[in-house]
Amino acid sequence: MDKSRGQQLLTDAQKGRHEEFKSFVRLDVEPFAEQWDREQRLPESVIATLAKRGYLGCSLPREYDGQGWDTVTFGLLNEALGRGSSALTDVVTVQSMVSMVLLKWGTTEQKRKWLPPLAKGEMIGAFALTEPDAGSALQSLTTEFTPNSKGDCLLLNGHKKWISCAQFAEVFLVFGKLDQRPAACLVPRDTPGLHVEPISDLMGFRAAGLAQLHFQDVEVPSANLVGKPGFALSHVAPVGLHYGRISTACSALGLLRGCFEESIAYAGTRKIGDKTLGDMGMIRSLIARMGTDLEAGSLLCHNACRAEDGHLPEAFEKTLMAKYFTSRAAVRAASDAVQIRGASGCHASSPVSRYYRDAKIMEIIECTTQIHEDILGNIFVDQAGRFGK
Ligand SMILES: Cc1cc2nc3c(=O)[nH]c(=O)nc-3n(C[C@H](O)[C@H](O)[C@H](O)COP(=O)(O)OP(=O)(O)OC[C@H]3O[C@@H](n4cnc5c(N)ncnc54)[C@H](O)[C@@H]3O)c2cc1C
Repeated sequence: MDKSRGQQLLTDAQKGRHEEFKSFVRLDVEPFAEQWDREQRLPESVIATLAKRGYLGCSLPREYDGQGWDTVTFGLLNEALGRGSSALTDVVTVQSMVSMVLLKWGTTEQKRKWLPPLAKGEMIGAFALTEPDAGSALQSLTTEFTPNSKGDCLLLNGHKKWISCAQFAEVFLVFGKLDQRPAACLVPRDTPGLHVEPISDLMGFRAAGLAQLHFQDVEVPSANLVGKPGFALSHVAPVGLHYGRISTACSALGLLRGCFEESIAYAGTRKIGDKTLGDMGMIRSLIARMGTDLEAGSLLCHNACRAEDGHLPEAFEKTLMAKYFTSRAAVRAASDAVQIRGASGCHASSPVSRYYRDAKIMEIIECTTQIHEDILGNIFVDQAGRFGK
């Protein structure tokens, strides 16, 4: 992987950071990821370490106490973390979704108040969009903000489901409707009327602290509205989902790298009679596809991150392509990695069994594979129209 084309395109500073991320993951994440998965929780200490290393605010500018790293470096962080633990990477994903929305759409006052603690990891954020009856169909949100008579407060009622990090987040970016218009609002965890109900026994991302949120007459200041009512689904949520996709695309790439590295190591040593697995053509076919997907995914992720750093309009579609490709390739690679290991790949002692369960989730979060196909298909068909074909 390190000799891949994607790696060759990095600056020395990006390469140096990538080495730092990989070494952190090798020492402080990989040895514990299986335990976190089994116990379905991340220890506070590892989240504190992410915070101390500046990883939770890495994309935020220095004026808000962030690291001011470019998106390529953000992608490398997610790739390195994704090799170790998808659940831990999800904390970085969601923190960046909330932070980047605030950076783009927050008022000066909101940025001053919320961004520094988010950047330093003193506060964990969660992105509360999905509802039991509004997943892909976001227009169907039923969570409601009702203004009081003075207009200085909103009364929040509704229900959110499948919210990552909600078990330990201190602030929620909640999407709903205000006078029938989509709206987004920051809701601190300790607000009376908010009940957090943990979700356990997920197939993958088991340590990511998912929960349902129940809001019953929760009073929040109108000053916590992020962006103008009416624009929450067209402008506010897309910024978060875009960063979520960059993070997930790169995390899936890391998982794919894990599958590849585990598979080549095993194929080189596992003896079947007088041959190793790697001597067998059918096993080599599986590894060939994995290695090629890894190279292609690496380039797609790198291109998406570079486009974002260059503020190019195509960053949106490049990110969709990267997430679409790497999440599906990760599912294929994880399945093949289990196949290559046989029974030992079906046991928790091998990371590929966890990869297998985590990979499928990546096809569902930050919009499903089908929604990616729908949006990308539309973009490509429109392009044909523009070229007059
Ligand atoms: C581990 C995990 C973490 C998550 N974290 C968060 C979080 O932090 N915040 C948050 O808000 N949500 C989160 N989610 C929820 C996730 O974003 C939704 O599950 C996702 O958007 C899909 O919604 P749904 O599950 O309701 O599926 P549905 O929308 O009901 O879709 C079911 C199936 O129908 C397909 N489908 C739906 N609409 C169309 C269409 N128009 N065309 C073609 N096919 C279609 C879908 O692709 C899917 O295959 C998380 C989910 C998981 C599993």
